[in-house]
Amino acid sequence: MTAPRDSATLSTPSTPPARPSPLLIHGLVKRYDDTEVVRGIDLELRAGECFTLLGPNGAGKTTTLRCALGLTAPSAGSIRLCGEPVPERAREARMRVGIVPQMDNLDPDFTCAENLLVYGRYFGLADAEIKARIPELLAFAGLENKRDARIQSLSGGMKRRLTLARALVNRPELLVLDEPTTGLDPQARHLIWDRLKQLIRGGTTVLLTTHFMDEAERLSDHLAILDNGRVLAGGSPREVIAGHIEPQVVEVFGEWSGHETAAGGGAAAWANAHAAALSDRFEISGETAFCYLHDAAPMLAHLATQPGLRYLHRPANLEDVFLKLTGRDLRD
Ligand code: ADP
Repeated sequence: MTAPRDSATLSTPSTPPARPSPLLIHGLVKRYDDTEVVRGIDLELRAGECFTLLGPNGAGKTTTLRCALGLTAPSAGSIRLCGEPVPERAREARMRVGIVPQMDNLDPDFTCAENLLVYGRYFGLADAEIKARIPELLAFAGLENKRDARIQSLSGGMKRRLTLARALVNRPELLVLDEPTTGLDPQARHLIWDRLKQLIRGGTTVLLTTHFMDEAERLSDHLAILDNGRVLAGGSPREVIAGHIEPQVVEVFGEWSGHETAAGGGAAAWANAHAAALSDRFEISGETAFCYLHDAAPMLAHLATQPGLRYLHRPANLEDVFLKLTGRDLRD
């Protein structure tokens, strides 16, 4: 028989107190003239996490970031950035934040090292302190050999990495990145992802916007999908997928012999004849039918009898949720 345990042994080991949220947004509204482009957004970032804002063009992502950073005044709502009220003490708060803007705005007249030095001065850092940090920042960016290179001589990926390194000059608690990998090739994107993961492991909180669902799925602990200035869905990538869409997808394309109809046709004609009976929901986009289901077995058995059609069976992903919530129509 085991001895009864005393209350001391039963109590859970003490954990360090949670760090305060680096960004709290409540009821954020932003109007330009009479148009509300942000319409009541609540966000809470947890210290040390990666949080992603997803949304089609014009959804309000950049405006939300700009309000959060105190770069534009909100029309209503409250914002706390690194514990400081924004916009009232935005300047002080921004001293503890690193920003990677959508467009690289490195100074073309300076070398890589000079860009870091000049940027560090904005934060009131002494030249000696910045110079001591430059080798570490260049190494982080994989640009050790480009210390004295001019900005024009750098590739797009190198410029992005230098902009990221520059945003770290003040050792920020929160790193904000607006579409950090837009325009980069896959190799350059992977390198940026590795660096961001390294920062997150080290305790930096990361807030990013992106159009890439795979990027959001790979990096984020939590995300919010925005459209028309509102949050349509939020949670961890898994929660968002599980909560908003059927778990399996069969994409059907190719030629359909259509022996039931005189004409036959493509996957769209096939879907109109069969998809409703075999799936929970389906959408036709161009020449592909997207079938969303809980149980794909009957659909796959049917497709095996349709030689002209080809298909891809896969688990549902964030892009499926995004398209379901925001629609397939082009923006911009
Ligand atoms: P996203 O970053 O999600 O693409 P934005 O926040 O840039 O979206 O824009 C949201 C909406 O606000 C868009 O309709 C855009 O045209 C409008 N908008 C953004 N900035 C301004 C501005 N300075 N003046 C007027 N409208 C603006």
